[in-house]
Amino acid sequence: MKFGGSSLKDPERIRNVAAIVQKEEETGPVAVVLSAMQGITDSLIGAAKSAEAGDPSYRSNLSDMRERVLKTATELVGRGEVTESLEVMLDELEEILHGIELVRECSPRSLDLVQSFGERMNCTVVAALLSAEGSPAVMTDARELVRTDDNHLSANVDFEITYRQIEEKLGSYEAAGEIPVITGFIGSTNEGVTTTLGRNGSDYSASIMGAGLRAEAIEIWTDVDGVMSADPRIVPNAFVVPEVSFEEAMELSYFGAKVIHPYTMIPAVDRTIPVWIRNTLNPEAPGTRIAKDAAKSEKPITGIASIDGAALINVQGGGMVGMPGVASKVFSIMAECKANIIMISQASSEHSICMVLRESETERALHALREGLREEVRAKKIQNFELIRDLEIVSIIGDKMRGTPGISGRLFKSLGDNEINVLAIAQGSSERNISFVVQTAQREDTLKTVHQAFLE
Ligand code: ASP
Ligand code: MG
Repeated sequence: MKFGGSSLKDPERIRNVAAIVQKEEETGPVAVVLSAMQGITDSLIGAAKSAEAGDPSYRSNLSDMRERVLKTATELVGRGEVTESLEVMLDELEEILHGIELVRECSPRSLDLVQSFGERMNCTVVAALLSAEGSPAVMTDARELVRTDDNHLSANVDFEITYRQIEEKLGSYEAAGEIPVITGFIGSTNEGVTTTLGRNGSDYSASIMGAGLRAEAIEIWTDVDGVMSADPRIVPNAFVVPEVSFEEAMELSYFGAKVIHPYTMIPAVDRTIPVWIRNTLNPEAPGTRIAKDAAKSEKPITGIASIDGAALINVQGGGMVGMPGVASKVFSIMAECKANIIMISQASSEHSICMVLRESETERALHALREGLREEVRAKKIQNFELIRDLEIVSIIGDKMRGTPGISGRLFKSLGDNEINVLAIAQGSSERNISFVVQTAQREDTLKTVHQAFLE
């Protein structure tokens, strides 16, 4: 069972989490994975950055954090052993930040160490609370379980060693009837240096633990009822999807249904363990089950996902026709300037290549393209670079679309009937996703129209 920051933001929520864990424990052994309390990771990063800049405000930032952490712990388990060990951690953190201030340098390696305090402090508190409430629990530092490389800030997991360490070290807790309360997000290298799995990486940690333990289920407890058929803030008729396949979940999470970190599926798929999305604020709700054998939805698609803040770059020119290598040059330039292409389409006339990316990366990309393709422009092989801003990528997703004729017909007819203009279209041969681009101004209409056409 993994609980995220918003489920752990104050003493009341933490008590609620403990109650959910205790209830589950009645039916069989449980391992718990936690992220930091809401806002703590951001504060830690903020403090490290201020210290690096020589800005003494990190000290007040740190004392606010100290107050919040100690107050929460005192409220939950009183003063004593727990608050003392938190004080020790906070003192160490202060020394590290002071070191960063002195050398005016915060390397990714140092930042990983700083970030690790959020999860470590939180697990210390929650393990003590569970124990105090009669469910013996042990704070478990994932640095002893998750082995990674030294790619700090988003380290890569060595699964062989990690699975072995989980089996060896967590097996004994089950035998002793204790609940391990494991730090999400963090790991360590074979030299024992602290690493992190990337922001919001605790979901991934939970899935790694679940797979390592060959658990019956991996439960990601968050603050929504499950995977929604569309963004409920925009589509009031959106509903919780009861079952989705691993592939659908990956597509949905990548395309903006941000209930779960996309990497979470990797270990779960690896050992075929179902992943549940559950709501800590509504534990009675069944949630969404993500599994290999997910029941196929009765509707033609499973869900709609969207990404806003997109922009489109069109590289146009007659000289690209029948000339191998131009596309590869365009994509290399994009890679070199670290502009991430979200969607691509090229018509068979080969007269233009259309790329959709985040608005914030377009300036850089356009500049790099102009520089890198100067020769081609001079030779008039490429005529121009068109930029269109304020766009939204919308995707319909579902395993059932595969091999079912008529879905795209229905999609574009519904858009046409509602006067929604489509700027670009892409469908991969997996046929699990049809993506298209519209203007941001038409986003609400688009999502409602498509939801109605397929899901209502
Ligand atoms: N605490 C980490 C973060 O805020 C990991 C997580 O929340 O999953 O990114
Ligand atoms: Mg989080």
